[in-house]
Amino acid sequence: MDHFALNGGVMHAEDVPLPEIAEVVGTPVYVYSRATLERHAQVFRDALADVPDKLIAFAVKSNPNLAVLKVLGAQGMGADVVSVGEMRRALAAGIAPEMIVFSGVGKTAAEMTAALEAGIGQFNIESEEEGLELAAIAAAKGLTAQCTLRINPDVDAGTHDKISTGKADNKFGVPISEAGQIFGKLAGLPGVNLRGVAVHIGSQLADLAPLETAFEKLGALVAALRSAGHTITHVDLGGGLGVPYRMGEVLPAPAEYGAMVARVTKDWGVKLIFEPGRVIAGNAGVLLTRVVRVKRGIKDPFVIVDAAMNDLARPALYGAYHHFEAVEPSAAQMTANIVGPICETGDTFAMGRECDALEAGDLAVFRTAGAYGATMASSYNSRGFVAEVLVDGDRFAVVADRIEAGAIMDAERVPEWLL
Ligand SMILES: *Cc1c(COP(=O)(O)O)cnc(C)c1O
Repeated sequence: MDHFALNGGVMHAEDVPLPEIAEVVGTPVYVYSRATLERHAQVFRDALADVPDKLIAFAVKSNPNLAVLKVLGAQGMGADVVSVGEMRRALAAGIAPEMIVFSGVGKTAAEMTAALEAGIGQFNIESEEEGLELAAIAAAKGLTAQCTLRINPDVDAGTHDKISTGKADNKFGVPISEAGQIFGKLAGLPGVNLRGVAVHIGSQLADLAPLETAFEKLGALVAALRSAGHTITHVDLGGGLGVPYRMGEVLPAPAEYGAMVARVTKDWGVKLIFEPGRVIAGNAGVLLTRVVRVKRGIKDPFVIVDAAMNDLARPALYGAYHHFEAVEPSAAQMTANIVGPICETGDTFAMGRECDALEAGDLAVFRTAGAYGATMASSYNSRGFVAEVLVDGDRFAVVADRIEAGAIMDAERVPEWLL
C-alpha cells in the first residue's frame, strides 16, 4: 500500500497535490512519501515478529537519500552499505555504527580501514582474498572485525540476469562447496571474528522458493560448520523481496516471507540480519514528469516527457516496467510510446502502452520509482541531476537539490596547454 492517490481528480502524495510540487520544484522530480516508507518498515518488521533476535538493515543502495535514511533509521532500521560513501550517509543520518553491515565484492583497503575506524557492526566478506586483507588491516590496528562469510549458494533466483547474484558464475560470495574450507582458514586469523554466514541471491524476487532453497542450504552449512567446531552466532539472509510494478500484480507478501523465514530458521539459534531495499522504498516514491510534446508516430504517438533514462535508468538497463499515469486524468485513454528526450533509442520507458490520454504540458508519474531510481541517475546528455522531494502529510521539502548541468560543467577544467 502507498500514499499516492487521486483526490478530487488530482494525484496527491499524502495530502500534497503533485502539481504544487511541480510548480515549486520543477520537473522531473522524485517524490517520496514518509508515511509509505514508515508503513513499509512496519509491515516488514511485523512480518518478522516470530524471529526473536534480528537486525533489519535497509539496503542503502536502493535509496541513499539522507532524509529517507533518517526516516528509516527512526524506524529502528540499520543499514546495509556497499561503499564507504554509503556508510558515511548512514552515519550522517544517525544510524548507529553497530547497526551497519558492509557488503560488496570490491571493498578497498581504504574502505575497510574507514569502516573499522567507524566501528561498524559487521563485514560480509565476499572472498578468501578479502578476508585475508581485512584480517591483516584489523590486526595491524589492534582491532577485531566482526564478520560473516558470504556464500554463493548456486541458486537461480529466477529474476533478471543483471540483478541475479546467487548463481555459481556470479561474482558474489564464495562457492558453497568451498565454504567450509575457506571458513576454517579465515576463522583462525587474528583481526577477525568470523561468527557466521551471509547470502543474497538477487533482487525483485517474485517467488519465495529459490530463497527457501538458499536458506536451507545455508542452514545445512551452519550445522556443518558447527560440527567442525566453529561458533556460529549470526546469519545474514540478505534482501531481494520483489514489489508489484504493474497494477494488480501479486507478489509474495512480507508476511509470507516472514513465515517462511521463521519456519526454516527456527532451530538455528542465531541472530538473523535482513537487508531489504526495494520492498521498503520501491512503492514509496514516484518520478513526477511533464509532457514536453506529443509527436505523431507511424503507428502510436510518442509521448515525449521531460524525464529520461538518465533520471530513471531501470527501463533502459533491465527493460523494467514502470506504471505510467496522468496526474490529472480525464476518462480518456491512449496507446502511446513513452520516451524521454535523450538521443538514444534506449531512452524509451514503454512502447505501445495503454495509458491516460496526455497532451503537451500535462503532468504524469512513473510509479514504483522510490528504489533504484534517483540513486542510478547520471548527467548523460548534460541534463544535470534530478531533484528529490519528501512529503509528510500536508508539507513537503526538497531533500536533494537539482544539480544543474552548469554546476557539473563548473567542476571541469580545460588544461592550460589547450588554451
Ligand atoms: C542490493 C542488495 C540488497 C537489497 O536488495 P533488494 O532487492 O533491494 O531488497 C541487499 N543485500 C545486498 C548484499 C545487496 O547487494
